[in-house]
This record gives sequence, C-alpha cells and structure tokens, in this order.
Amino acid sequence: MGLPKKKLSTTRRDRRWVRYKLSGVALVECPHCHKKIRPHRVCPFCGYYEGREVIAVKSEKEE
Ligand SMILES: [Zn+2]
Repeated sequence: MGLPKKKLSTTRRDRRWVRYKLSGVALVECPHCHKKIRPHRVCPFCGYYEGREVIAVKSEKEE
C-alpha cells in the first residue's frame, strides 16, 4: 500500500536530484530593485513584494 517494492540503490536515489541541480534555482527579476530573486518571495534586497514594502531591509550588514 503505497510502498516501493524495491529499495532504490544509493546511485539511483541520488540521481533524482541531478536534473534539479542542473536546471538550477528559478529566478525572476525584482520589479523594484531589478535583482535576481526567487519568485513568490519577498525580495531580500529591498524587501518589496507585489509592489509594496513588506519587510524592512537593512542596507548595511549589522545585526
Ligand atoms: Zn528588490
């Protein structure tokens, strides 16, 4: 019931991710700062999403 009949070998199991790694991570251009960002995510550079500022981003590296 929903279980694989045979155990996948380490090679076959890991080969599943090769295509994913080759295709790379999907990137879109931020409409605000025009940097490459992940789609459907708040831009980590300017904090904008859907045309408005969602999070406050510090320009300098300080915590
Ligand atoms: Zn941005």
